This record gives sequence, C-alpha cells and structure tokens, in this order.
Amino acid sequence: MKYKNTTNLSSEYIEYLLANTPQVTFEITDACNLKCTYCGYGEFYSDYDDRENKVLPEKKAIRLLDYLSKLWNSSRNISSNENIFISFYGGEPLLNMKFIRKIVDYVENELKCENRRFRFSMTTNGLLLHKYIEYLVKHDFHLLISLDGNKENNAYRIDKMGNPKFEIILRNTDAIRDNYPNYFLSNVNFNAVLHNKNTVESIYRFVKVRFNKIPNIGELNNMGIRPDKREVFMQTYRNSEESLYQSEHYSEIEKDMFVKSGSFRNCLMYLIRHSDFVFKDYNELLYGKPKEEHTFPTGTCLPFTKKIYVTVNGKILPCERIGHKFALGEITDTEIKLDFSLIAKKYNKYYAKLDSQCKSCYNKKGCIQCVFNIENIDEEPTCHGCLTKKDFDSYVNSQLNFLAHNPEAYFRIMEEVIVK
Ligand code: SF4
Ligand code: SF4
Repeated sequence: MKYKNTTNLSSEYIEYLLANTPQVTFEITDACNLKCTYCGYGEFYSDYDDRENKVLPEKKAIRLLDYLSKLWNSSRNISSNENIFISFYGGEPLLNMKFIRKIVDYVENELKCENRRFRFSMTTNGLLLHKYIEYLVKHDFHLLISLDGNKENNAYRIDKMGNPKFEIILRNTDAIRDNYPNYFLSNVNFNAVLHNKNTVESIYRFVKVRFNKIPNIGELNNMGIRPDKREVFMQTYRNSEESLYQSEHYSEIEKDMFVKSGSFRNCLMYLIRHSDFVFKDYNELLYGKPKEEHTFPTGTCLPFTKKIYVTVNGKILPCERIGHKFALGEITDTEIKLDFSLIAKKYNKYYAKLDSQCKSCYNKKGCIQCVFNIENIDEEPTCHGCLTKKDFDSYVNSQLNFLAHNPEAYFRIMEEVIVK
C-alpha cells in the first residue's frame, strides 16, 4: 500500500484511511428521555464529558462534511461507489430532529460528492418513533432500536422518574412492523444490553418471536468504571457466552444467532486472523498477506477504519466506545482541527508502550484488544489478554473443537460472511 509505513503509522496513511472511512457518526445531543441505570454516560462511568443537555451545532457537522468531501473527492478515496453511513447518535437522537432534517437535506441536496453513496442510520430508544417514522422511512434510515427483551428484562430502561417505558417502545415498534412491513424487514434491527435482569435466551426469544429478528446482544462496558460503583457494576454485569451456555436450548439458539453469538463470532475471528485461505482483498490474494512484523501492536483498529465519531462538544474520536480523553481532534467554531502527524504520534506512542508485550504474545495475529481500553495506558500499561504458548494452544484447540462439533460452521462462515 502506497501510504503505508510498515513500522510506524504515518500521517499520510491516516489521511488515506480517513478518505476511505465507511461511517460518520454525530452525537447530535447528549440529552435523553430515558435514564437507563447502566447507561454508558450514567452513574457507573466517569470517562466521558459532563452531560448538559447540549446539542451539536449543525454548522459544525456541515463543516466536517465539507472537509471530508474534499478527501472523498480526492485520489486518496479508492472506495468509489461504496456506501457511507451518516449516523445519528445520542443521548436520544430523535430529541434533535432539527439537526437530522438539516443534515439529511444537506447531504441529499448540497454535498458535492458524486463517488460516494450516502445512507442514514440511527440508534434510538424508540420512545419518539411514532412522531418521526414517516420521515425516517422516506429517507431510508437504518434503525437500531435498543430493547433488552421482555417487560421484566427492560427493568433498567426507565425514565428520569424511574418509570418503565417498555409499553410505549413496544407499541411504536409494533406499529412500524405492521404499517411498514418491508421497511421493518430490511431496515430495522434490535440492540440489547445483557445484565442481571435478562439472559441471552430471554432476549433472543422475545425479539425472535415478536419481530422475527435476531438481536445484537452486548455486554456492559467494563472500562472507565467509577471505583465506588465497581461492586454494583459487578452485580449488574453478565457474561454473554456464559449466559448463552446456560440457555435451555443453547445449541439451537447459538445456530440461529450465528455470528451474533459469541462462539460463532470467535470462530469467525479465528478464521479471519489465522486461516491461510481468507483474503481481505485482491492484493492479498495475488501478492500474499502482509508479513507479521508489518502489523501494528495490539488489535486497535487503525484510525477511521471503522468510523469518524464526533461528540456533542465537537471532539473527534475513532469511535464512541472509548473515553473522550482520547480525542484525536476537534471541530471548532472556525475550523476542523485534525493534525494527522499528531494522531500518528499518539498511536505510535501507545504502540511503543505495548510493543514488547505484543511481540511476546502468541495471540498477536488474532488480537482484538483496543489500546484505548487498556488500563493505565498513559503510564505503564499491562495487557491482561497477553497469551503464552500454552494459552494459545488451548485457544486453538477450543476453536478446532468448535468446528469439529459444528461441521457446518466453516461453510456457513465462508459463504455467508467472508465471501458475500
Ligand atoms: S473500541 Fe478501539 S478498536 Fe474498537 S472501534 Fe473503538 S477505537 Fe477501534
Ligand atoms: S492480547 Fe497480546 S497482542 Fe493483543 S494487546 Fe495484549 S499483548 Fe498485545
């Protein structure tokens, strides 16, 4: 790759990655009409900016889109005709429809960018869907609705007064299913958080039976926990693989959930990272895979390869799942502050801190550890995921065992996920 320096991440390469980013996500408000007990911006956590009912100014978002369109229109963009998602995130994004309407209109009618195809998406708690669904359908929004399963499972999804809102969310979601069946089929998905008031089985059953969909099920984020909340966090936390294996019909659920279950997902990762028969692109197929020493330490995604994320305060991050202190840049009232050499310096500094651990780790090819989620990364970090040869052999054995017990898994993963 022309822009890639094989030992250090270079500023030119980062600019190239940004020119090919698949998603731009705006945190358009930090206000929310729910106050979920486990919220990533709630009482368990401390690594985010204060929540002050702010909105992201539309001008800032437009400034960023104009900046990005120059990159998208340049020779650095090699993903011609590929979809790019413009995503709205919160807080609850439907509390800021003014922003959504303005940006959708700008993208559809004013942004000059012939060689990208724009799509819109949103994560919503569903409370206001009855008001805006017509607009969302008209603009072909992809919706990810947060729902933790049945009524009892949703006990942590409450409003500021502690009242449950499950019935309203369900009514709104049922209405989309009934009034816009094709849209519901193609554009609506569900996202659940696993905790001590639900299980993988109860979430799966509810969403499958009611909506004929397979939900994404995520665990509580265990980074940035306030020390005084650690005990209650641990009581609330549930591990998704354990929960799946405790299901009465775990094999049936696991097969139906496929790569949305931990075991199939791990197997997919194993094949992608360790099989000699999986190629990322034609370059790899024709010229061979990059040599191991050319990969960067840790499993951190390279900047902007997943998305560019903008907080309500204008901070620019590589995603919404890391602390705001790791901002890579900022949108100010007058400019986009993105210094690619400073970003390269930051990543290379963190890589250097982990380099010797990663070199001795048997999991370096399969690593998914994000550098921004390693404790004490600014001091003397230790990666607790570092694998010895013995640990690695047992990991390989468990994957081979899984494939032996699920002989269709390899075929399904290759057919349905890797070669689409
Ligand atoms: S958590 Fe880390 S590795 Fe994952 S998308 Fe965010 S920055 Fe990338
Ligand atoms: S798991 Fe291994 S390769 Fe990944 S960050 Fe930790 S030490 Fe490095």
